[in-house]
Amino acid sequence: MAFAYRSGVLCAEQVSLEDIARQFGTPCYVYSRAAIERAYREYADELSGRSSLVCYSVKANSNLAVLALMARLGAGFDIVSGGELARVIAAGGDPAKVVFSGVGKSAHEIRGALQAGVLSINLESEQELARVNDIAVSMGKRAPVAFRVNPDVDAKTHPYISTGLKQSKFGIAYADAERLYREAARLPGIRLTGIGCHIGSLMNDSAPFVAATQRIVALLARLEEGGISLAHIDLGGGMGIRYQDEAQAPVAAFVHGALDAIGQRKEKLLLDPGRSIVGNAGLLLTRIEYVKPGEAKNFVVVDAAMNDLIRPALYDAWHEVRQVREVELDAAAGVYDIVGPVCESADFLARGRKLAVRPGALLALMSAGAYGMVMSSNYNTRPRPAEVMVASGAVQLVRRREAVGEMFAGERVPEWN
Ligand SMILES: *Cc1c(COP(=O)(O)O)cnc(C)c1O
Repeated sequence: MAFAYRSGVLCAEQVSLEDIARQFGTPCYVYSRAAIERAYREYADELSGRSSLVCYSVKANSNLAVLALMARLGAGFDIVSGGELARVIAAGGDPAKVVFSGVGKSAHEIRGALQAGVLSINLESEQELARVNDIAVSMGKRAPVAFRVNPDVDAKTHPYISTGLKQSKFGIAYADAERLYREAARLPGIRLTGIGCHIGSLMNDSAPFVAATQRIVALLARLEEGGISLAHIDLGGGMGIRYQDEAQAPVAAFVHGALDAIGQRKEKLLLDPGRSIVGNAGLLLTRIEYVKPGEAKNFVVVDAAMNDLIRPALYDAWHEVRQVREVELDAAAGVYDIVGPVCESADFLARGRKLAVRPGALLALMSAGAYGMVMSSNYNTRPRPAEVMVASGAVQLVRRREAVGEMFAGERVPEWN
């Protein structure tokens, strides 16, 4: 277990969160390197013996320390912007193992990706195909591309993170795929390398993932009959993690389901998990500023807020709250909403939790390693938190706390006239 109590204090591996708070302040994101490695190896082990590549989805947690760790483990990367490509390269990642997804790639980003030599640009529209072809021709290159096909399968997850239905903005329609592949095969700036799909995030069940795989495999067979053969199948990510006590299919169920559906096909298998690699490998450490009993509700006001961790406000997401100093939940315990200082009623981190709290005590919001820091903002001119990584019994700062001046360093007061 990455995070467990030792002598009554919650620790990250062997390091006390009280010590981390003293050294680095709060709020602070804390990651366990061993937990990230374990999660990655689960995929690598399940796929061993097959031609495959795990492309870590950078948007889940793009800290350079995480990316450098992934690169060291041999992972590839799934990116959605030129900024993410720059991060991967800065962290020592290999651009030749990068797949570039996203519905709105700019000409500038496409040029950058071709220059860097990515493995695949995952196309999401007919106009994007034309744009990539034009840019590649102008550069004297052939762009390696895959189409992201929308298999019209319901991932049965939160509507904001479901991406594989007909009404979704993502991917090309399943019915258009054969025509677009034929068209692309005739273009001088295009080299067809693969096919992709990604039906949504936080899937608790593997059945929709397997159903999408079957649809993609059927399409591959038809493309092959038409004389188009491809080098890889990219099945995306979206494997869920347990935030509470919900039923969660293990990584093995997703991988085995996909392998069964693919059968004897020779294409290289790409998976792009994000959340399931880092989600349970991180927490957000926060200190209680005030305990505020109310008429209808009791509040614990902490120094972290929705700008640091937006998932509760955005998706009504549930994060476990642990008291860093282990306490008996006896008669002194109360039921509290854990809220931040931001001036919004949506600024809550957890609701209705039984705690025995006092001002100054530390709390840990668990399972905050994915879609935590990456979605943070400066709303209310709040500096973004520090990030630290624990490894081999020691803790290292992997991003310093933002300074107040940095937040408006790019702003200018105009010359009034
Ligand atoms: C976001 C995304 C992923 C990763 O999703 P997770 O739920 O974090 O595993 C994978 N592939 C694509 C194309 C994505 O957009």
